[in-house]
Amino acid sequence: MTEQEIIDYAIQRGADLAGFASVDWWNREEHAPEEYRPRAIWPQTRSVIVLGMGMPLPIVETTPSVQHRDLYNACNRSLDDIAFDLARWLGRKGHAAVPIGRDGYANIHVLLKNPRAAFSHNLAAYYAGLGYIGINNTVLTRKLGPRVRFVSILTDAVLSGTGPMNEPLCIRCGACSSFCPADALPITREELRDPAVPVAEYDRTACTLWARELTRRGCYPCGICIKVCPVGDDRKIFGREKAIGHYRKELETPIVNAPDPLHRSWMHIRRHGSSLFDETAGPQDRFGDILRRIRKKSEEEKK
Ligand code: SF4
Ligand code: SF4
Repeated sequence: MTEQEIIDYAIQRGADLAGFASVDWWNREEHAPEEYRPRAIWPQTRSVIVLGMGMPLPIVETTPSVQHRDLYNACNRSLDDIAFDLARWLGRKGHAAVPIGRDGYANIHVLLKNPRAAFSHNLAAYYAGLGYIGINNTVLTRKLGPRVRFVSILTDAVLSGTGPMNEPLCIRCGACSSFCPADALPITREELRDPAVPVAEYDRTACTLWARELTRRGCYPCGICIKVCPVGDDRKIFGREKAIGHYRKELETPIVNAPDPLHRSWMHIRRHGSSLFDETAGPQDRFGDILRRIRKKSEEEKK
């Protein structure tokens, strides 16, 4: 069984990206504490197979919305299915393999108490050379920017990968930080200019509190830092290479009858299937906390 056969299997089953990381990377780089490394989780592990699946930009752009939530769930389910099938396929070929579930948490309340996953698929994707970790703490890929989800399969097979990507894909524009409605990615302009600061200091609690509010409204996850990131060839496919100004304008757009057709479409989607905009509340809450907080942030930016 070759690396290419595994890639072919995964791509044919629907994955968009596939890569391999030796367990040595976890020990060499020491980003993850001992108990979060592959061999601590399953001692037979010699390599980690990482699969990625893209989330189409036009739906990501509607976030927060129930359409975005459904897409996120479908992507997670598909990745879990492919990982499960791939592990069994490896087993039939004589290699022990263990799929690690995509999300691995029961609900948002559990995440608030302990916001860390037992195993980081993002770190595995980075070691497998699938992308580079951006200021927004996610893995940016050439093809799909950060609009990609990952799953991992631990295996006793020895597989060679490329090692971590050394081309920084993040252009350090700061959009992820400035658009974050929860202030969960704080970074100053000086820090953005300083390559010694690799990522924004991620405030997990602020992000998860925001996620809890969106869950209550039926439109978790947030993912605005992923939506606005300018990196990724997917932007070319959808004709959305230079969209930051358009995203900023969105913050001023009315809920109904927005002048811009795309803004109107996103608002239409957000007004259906979730209670993002609480239409039954008093006028001061009709627009929901979410856009109000985003707008406040935007106003501060302009000063
Ligand atoms: S939005 Fe800009 S700063 Fe943030 S991850 Fe993407 S490229 Fe990097
Ligand atoms: S998911 Fe939303 S709240 Fe969390 S860091 Fe990204 S933009 Fe901020």
